[in-house]
Amino acid sequence: MMGGRIWLESEPDVGTTVYFTARLNKQQEEPEAADSTTPLSVAAVDQAVARLRGAKVLLVEDNEINQELVLELLLSKGIEVETANDGRRALDLLEQERFDGVLMDCQMPVMDGYETTRHLRAQEKFKDLPILAMTANAMKGDREKVLSAGMNDHIAKPIKPDVMFSRMEKWIRPRAERVT
Ligand code: MN
Repeated sequence: MMGGRIWLESEPDVGTTVYFTARLNKQQEEPEAADSTTPLSVAAVDQAVARLRGAKVLLVEDNEINQELVLELLLSKGIEVETANDGRRALDLLEQERFDGVLMDCQMPVMDGYETTRHLRAQEKFKDLPILAMTANAMKGDREKVLSAGMNDHIAKPIKPDVMFSRMEKWIRPRAERVT
């Protein structure tokens, strides 16, 4: 329909690369500004970080470099972190431990972020668990897609620490501070 081609190259035990070509029209309207260009004041970010201190977060990310980067950022601000490399592992960890929120990559092997979120939202005990997607290309459709899968919000990759902390602070609180 878009005058392109789609194909994939697959190797057993290694993985699959999907390629496609498409002819697209240039975007007419302004791209979404929220993630990348809105400046955040230092005070606002400091406050967000202070509010997150002591929270326990599950970081679900298959890319080692991204995982390391986000892990370091979170630990440096006194946020407790556990990591999972795919959605299946995340579901296991969430069964075993209580978390104050989840940072969820979308493209992952075994079980992706969308499916993982749908599994969680189908369970009463995880209905209110804050889940924030992390995806590359903060295009308009991406945000809708993560929201419709049941995630609360969206953080664009490459991760900008200030944006990440202020997004997290909108949804995640350390358990001790929560009204029960
Ligand atoms: Mn990924």
